Amino acid sequence: MRIGFLAMSGLRAHDPELLRRGLTLPGLIERGRQVAALPSLGLLSIAACTPPGHELVYAEALAGEFPPELEDCELIAISTLSAQAFEAYAIADRLRASGVRVALGGLHATALPDEAALHADYVVAGEGERAWPEVVRLAERRAAPRVLLADELAPVDVGRLPVPRYDLLGRRRYGRYTVQTVRGCPWRCDFCASTVMLRRPYRKRPVAHVVRDVRAVLREQPDAFLELADDNTFVDRSWGLELCRALEPFKLRWFTETDLSVADDPVLLAAMARAGCRQVLVGLESPDARALRGIEQRSDFKARRATRAIQDVRRIQAHGITVNGCFVLGLDGQDPSIFERVLRCAEEAGLYDVQVTVLTPFPGTPVHARLADEGRILRPGRWDLCTLFDVNVRPAGMTPEQLREGLLWLCDRLYEGDRQRRRRASFRAQVRARICRGDPSVRILPIPTEISARRSEC
Ligand code: SF4
Repeated sequence: MRIGFLAMSGLRAHDPELLRRGLTLPGLIERGRQVAALPSLGLLSIAACTPPGHELVYAEALAGEFPPELEDCELIAISTLSAQAFEAYAIADRLRASGVRVALGGLHATALPDEAALHADYVVAGEGERAWPEVVRLAERRAAPRVLLADELAPVDVGRLPVPRYDLLGRRRYGRYTVQTVRGCPWRCDFCASTVMLRRPYRKRPVAHVVRDVRAVLREQPDAFLELADDNTFVDRSWGLELCRALEPFKLRWFTETDLSVADDPVLLAAMARAGCRQVLVGLESPDARALRGIEQRSDFKARRATRAIQDVRRIQAHGITVNGCFVLGLDGQDPSIFERVLRCAEEAGLYDVQVTVLTPFPGTPVHARLADEGRILRPGRWDLCTLFDVNVRPAGMTPEQLREGLLWLCDRLYEGDRQRRRRASFRAQVRARICRGDPSVRILPIPTEISARRSEC
């Protein structure tokens, strides 16, 4: 069979004012675009699990347009985020009407497999590596539609994953290339969509396999900027050190997501810097513990760290690693003073990059269930509003309009040239102060502007 792998690209907000500001505020809508512009590691990974004897093609759908490369495919796998689910369904319906078998997977299909099944022959809910060979066999026999639940299959062994098929990217060039080092996150934030997909425990890949995948990316793009496609990379310090030591000889530049606990370990931070870590994205969510209480449902990790967050950011940045601090606006414990407090927190910490999003009820998350029960989702089922920027909830401490206005007010200030320059000068001062204290391992490295984006729907 000729099998296509179709990634949905081109995420954008719906609010016309946000769209307009996105054109002039570099930090706002661009972040969503960068996330959507990554090659789909999920699809490249399942492509690597395809049984032998098939022709494979990878393509991206921009603004819902069907890419011509996928003409003549007999089976097409589509992976989509919630915000693009309706576009993906429209493409899937057209394909099926012309006789193509369609498989849907990814975060949205995992949360709502029955909805996805209305538009697909086969739906994979959960991690796809085990289910995909079965999907291919079903499609070959033109078997009846089915939903395959990863939870009912043997667990994916992350110590035995094949190299993702980066070669399918062909001559396309990306600002960043994704490599996965861990799966999942030990925490459970109530708004986080990633944990819906990865229900299994936090798993680390063998460092030798990560190195193998890095080599495969470098064969395609020798000077690739890497994004570690993880939710929380440096939870295990000794494994993290081993990873950094293995990456150091490659002279890479990379970005990852992690939590504030990395700030506790100067040895690990120095190793990350030496290995080429240019930026870590950290979910700070809110500047104060009150609004964070109960957000992380395992041990209230985020609320417990809140009082130290500014020092933690400064400690990380002092090692020459920039921090992209993410805040969620509209949490239950926040009132209209939150916008000014986020601005102050970002300035006090000297955050190199800041991302602000609004509370978004992704399907399958605890926050979605709670807000739906309380009748606080403004337009239920409007998955296309799950862009992280469009307001679709009634917050507890303000009106939806105050949330929307506050987001715009804050973006105007956060991404305004002088304030941004001041925060970045503060980062450089934090590094210099450390150099002056005699740490030779610390250097200020140039940061490409395109590296700062929150990747997952979390
Ligand atoms: S939001 Fe981040 S820290 Fe929280 S569960 Fe998701 S990945 Fe983990």
